Amino acid sequence: MSEPLKACPFCGGAGTIETWGPTGAAYVWCEVCRAEVGGDEQTTESVAMWNRRAMPAEVRKVVERMVQEREGCLDCQYPDDPFTKTMAAYLGEVIAALEAAYDR
Ligand SMILES: [Zn+2]
Repeated sequence: MSEPLKACPFCGGAGTIETWGPTGAAYVWCEVCRAEVGGDEQTTESVAMWNRRAMPAEVRKVVERMVQEREGCLDCQYPDDPFTKTMAAYLGEVIAALEAAYDR
């Protein structure tokens, strides 16, 4: 069983797995923009290829800045202030979500 398909990396559309031929080869294509990967690979490999994401440089810069801001929140004069704690937790969630969305 292959992992669930992520949204299309180009347009956010839904991906579809298409198998063909006697070998079970598969490709994944976008129902909106028709981007596709695979073709000679088995379903699991094609899905892994479709789901693989490189973090764009501009997103990496934002994540690095958020990590620094979060560390600043936790290392500040008022680390127990409710707003500071909320912001540090929020930044932590956003950082984790971005890291999960992209290969690191
Ligand atoms: Zn697409």
